[in-house]
Amino acid sequence: MNNRILTTHVGSLPRPERVVTQLFAQDSGLNYDPGEFDSVMEAEVKDVVARQVAAQVDVVSDGEMSKISYATYIRHRLTGFELGEMPRAVPRDLDDFPDFKERLAKLGATPKYHRPICTGPIAVKDLAGLHKDIANLKAATKSAPQANGTPRRAFMNSASPGVIAVFQPNKYYASTELYLQALADAMATEYEAIVAAGLDLQIDAPDLAMGRHIKFRDVDDNEFLRNANLQVEALNHALRNVPAERVRMHVCWGNYEGPHHHDIGLEKIIGVVLKAKPATVLFEGANPRHAHEWEVWAQAGREGRIPDHKILAPGVLDTVNNFIEHPRLVAQRLLTYANIVGRDRVMAATDCGFGTFAGFGAIHPPICFAKLASMAEGAQIASKELWK
Ligand SMILES: [Zn+2]
Repeated sequence: MNNRILTTHVGSLPRPERVVTQLFAQDSGLNYDPGEFDSVMEAEVKDVVARQVAAQVDVVSDGEMSKISYATYIRHRLTGFELGEMPRAVPRDLDDFPDFKERLAKLGATPKYHRPICTGPIAVKDLAGLHKDIANLKAATKSAPQANGTPRRAFMNSASPGVIAVFQPNKYYASTELYLQALADAMATEYEAIVAAGLDLQIDAPDLAMGRHIKFRDVDDNEFLRNANLQVEALNHALRNVPAERVRMHVCWGNYEGPHHHDIGLEKIIGVVLKAKPATVLFEGANPRHAHEWEVWAQAGREGRIPDHKILAPGVLDTVNNFIEHPRLVAQRLLTYANIVGRDRVMAATDCGFGTFAGFGAIHPPICFAKLASMAEGAQIASKELWK
């Protein structure tokens, strides 16, 4: 029991300029010096953990410093992927507003980096990068202990089999099922290594929501949900050796400031989301398109559809604008969810990452940390209310 609401976030944090330079060097192979890459990452992970601690974040991450994006990093760790050019599906909401879509493109809001395509059998290739990430985060949390002297609790992100399958095209496996199965078998090694190292594992699964208006934009809801079920089955298989309470899962509709009016409603996906093994669910709860969906959670709670071991970690901060949410708004949001599942099953989180793709964050970095501090203040207000 913590006797208060803990705070966390979704994973990525703004990468400093020298981190971005290293990531693009690694991605392109030009001017890439592995020794320099490693020493920059080690120092910057330590720094970003210290900044989270200063903002009173309870469960911290490495800010995904060493990853150019949350899913494409897998090409360095698995066999079977080749870089290629594939036309990128545009989110359906942007198609309704072509001038706006053009404006985003002109602003360079669409990241340009290499795209892995599956062209061969998938297997674990090289986990040196993973082990370096783990060592850097563990060293950083040791040097920023909790009040009781123990190392700070931390989580590490990892891509779900589904998000890899949905966004990295398959040109090798005969069916989606076989592609997912191969990904699940290969990713299980990474999942188990993160948990064995004493870190919480965060599965990033935007495929379960964002997939609807991008990859599956031209099919109906049933077809999308049939695939989402396969993605969750593959994930659960990959997590078979990992206890549910050590895993959290992030679901989102895409971290971009756009109309989002074609986002599939939470009420349609909540069933498949709750079928996934991870005990903690992190989801969008702050932005104008999804903040109202606490009602869907409330109804699921009334109907007894939220399993007792599930912990809800709603986004109480929007991650695509520079407003600093008022701590009282943060507290109101947390109290709403505490009403649904009880005070011990709520954690404060963010809608998505703050720097989803290296070099393309919408948030001014110092404002990101000020938002996190406001989240901690709001969690304190709500905790006072809930534990009085
Ligand atoms: Zn997200």
